[in-house]
Amino acid sequence: MQIDRERRWAPRLAGALMTALVCAAAVLIQAQGQPATPAQTAPPPKQDTAKPGELGYTDTPLIPGQKWRVHDPERPAPPLVTPGAAPGAPPSDAIVLFDGKDLSKWAHSQKGQLTDAKWKVANGYFEVAPKTGGIVTREPFGDVQLHIEWAAPAEVRASSQNRGNSGVMFMDGRYEVQVLDMLSNRTYPDGGAASLYGQYPPLVSAPRPPGEWQTYDIVFEAPRFEGNKLVKPAFMTVFWNGVLAHNRKELLGPTLHRQATKYVPHENELPLLLQDHGDLVRYRNIWIRRLKGYDAAERL
Ligand code: MG
Repeated sequence: MQIDRERRWAPRLAGALMTALVCAAAVLIQAQGQPATPAQTAPPPKQDTAKPGELGYTDTPLIPGQKWRVHDPERPAPPLVTPGAAPGAPPSDAIVLFDGKDLSKWAHSQKGQLTDAKWKVANGYFEVAPKTGGIVTREPFGDVQLHIEWAAPAEVRASSQNRGNSGVMFMDGRYEVQVLDMLSNRTYPDGGAASLYGQYPPLVSAPRPPGEWQTYDIVFEAPRFEGNKLVKPAFMTVFWNGVLAHNRKELLGPTLHRQATKYVPHENELPLLLQDHGDLVRYRNIWIRRLKGYDAAERL
């Protein structure tokens, strides 16, 4: 009896299995030939179909000093920036001033005449060529965010201001963030690495050894003049190897050697300068972003 029952059910079971397989195959073939299901491609909901309050409020008070309400749905969305692929890499709206290949964005400047930069380019970096003079960007800048990497010479030769000296100098050399080998190197504090030269030492000293790459991430706000009158001083924020060295510090004027400073009117935008102080300082991965104010974007 047992055998008979198995014989009777076996063909039926096989038939059912075959049907199930054919159905599954048909579903698969259909799915492959058709576009993805609506759930996978559905666009984000339109703003006018959003639930009340979901994208802002129109019955809220004004933010003090602003024309926008708290959670104002009409406020412009900020511009979209794609960040760099890795930490330190340029974001999508940055101007790359050196990508490891050439100095085409830089020049020597003498009495307004620009000539090609003579500093040495090798292996993804460039190096000061002593006595050729500083190099300036061919493009002028005002308010900016700057990322720059530098290395003092691995071979330590001198001391104090003559050990790996260079400088990141905004507005055609006027406002310097000092570059100097600071490891076991004593110098006057307002002239050390990351100092606002002749005005403020950094809040802390965060050096890497000579020969190693170091980073400055700087926010520079250019001064504003109306005629001969200063209407807004310059401000500098500096991160040195990721450590805060200056927090929107007000500059007293141009950074000077052995002199007290005061502002002298100049243009709103001027080139960035890297200093030739006679030492074989290297630079790489330099990018800059022009800064805009809040609410500068088109409404999305
Ligand atoms: Mg210097």
